[in-house]
Amino acid sequence: MRLSAWKRRGIPPAISHWIVDLNARGDSELGREEAAEDHHLAPDGRSHRLESSDGAGRALAPAELRRARTCNPQGGGERDDRRRQSSWHVQPRGRGVHFNRMSRLAPALGFVCVLACSSSPRAILVYTRTAGFRHDSIPAAVEALQTLAAADRLAVDHTEDPAVFISGRLHDYVAVVFLHTTGEMLDAAGVQALDAYVRGGGGFVGIHAAADALYGSSTYRNLVGALLLRHSAVETGTLPVEDAQNPATKDLPARWQHTDEFYDFASNPRGSVRVLLRIDETSYPGGGMGPDHPMAWCHVIGNGRAFYTALGHTIESWSEPMFLEHVRGGLRIAAGLFPVDCTPN
Ligand SMILES: [Zn+2]
Repeated sequence: MRLSAWKRRGIPPAISHWIVDLNARGDSELGREEAAEDHHLAPDGRSHRLESSDGAGRALAPAELRRARTCNPQGGGERDDRRRQSSWHVQPRGRGVHFNRMSRLAPALGFVCVLACSSSPRAILVYTRTAGFRHDSIPAAVEALQTLAAADRLAVDHTEDPAVFISGRLHDYVAVVFLHTTGEMLDAAGVQALDAYVRGGGGFVGIHAAADALYGSSTYRNLVGALLLRHSAVETGTLPVEDAQNPATKDLPARWQHTDEFYDFASNPRGSVRVLLRIDETSYPGGGMGPDHPMAWCHVIGNGRAFYTALGHTIESWSEPMFLEHVRGGLRIAAGLFPVDCTPN
C-alpha cells in the first residue's frame, strides 16, 4: 500500500503494533544511556553536561534545560557508533536531537517516523521558581515527577528560569508543571506566553503553592483556578472523592485520609472547573470554606487542559503511593494522554 493511502486510511494494526514495539525498545534503551551520561541543551543551542541539582531542589544552571528527545527522520544513519550515542546533535535552529535505534532504522522505514513519531513533544517542563516561601519538599517532588513522567515515557526539563516562557518555546512540551512556585515568579509577558501555550492546546499542572503566586494576575488565576487565602497547619484530613472516574482520583478511596497542609482559597472555583476532590472540614482544624471545599480540579482552557491539586506540601507526601497516583493522573490529564471529562460541575 502506498504511504499516502496509509496516511489516509490509518496504519494497519499489525504495523501499528510493530511501531509501538520498536519505539518502546528504542526509548528504554535511550533511558539507560541517558542515565549513564546526562546531557542537556542551553537556550543558546549549545550542548552542556547536566550538573544535576544542588540537593535543595534548585537546578544549578537554571538557564539550561535538558532537551526532550524525538525521533528524527532526517537523522537516521548519521550516528551508528553506540559509544557516542549519548551526544547531542544541534540543528541550526537550536534544537537538540537525540538519535536512538529507531532513527537508525529510519532510512529503511522512513514512513515510520513520519507517521508514528513526527516531531511530537515528549517532555514536560517543571518550573519551581520561588519569589516567596520555598517548600523544602521541592527536591523530593521533582524527583517524584521525573519517575512518574518516565513511566509514561516523558522526559522532564526542570528549570527556575522565567526566560523559557516566551512565545513558541513552550510548544516543545506536552505539559508545563508549576510546582510550589510562589510570589512574583513570572512577569506579565511570561504569563501571557503560558496562557497562549495552554489555549493553543498545551497542558498546565499547578501543584500546591502554585496557588500562592501572582495574586495580581487574573490570567494566572484562571489558569490555576483559584488562589490561596490561608492554610492550616500540617494535619490529617478526610478528602471525599467527587469524580471517581477521573485519572487523578480513580485510584483513591471514596474518603481518602491524607496528611498535608490544607489550603483555603480566596474564591470557590466550582462552576468554572470540574471539582475532583474536596476536603471535609469537620475532619481537621483550620478549614474556612465550609462544606464545599475543593482541593483538586481540572478544567479546559481554550484547546488546552489544566489540572490543579492543593496537596503536596510535605516531603513525605511525595513518597505516598496514593498521592503519587493522584499526581500521575493530573499529569496525564494535562498531557492529554487520555480523553477525560473536565466539564465544570
Ligand atoms: Zn505548603
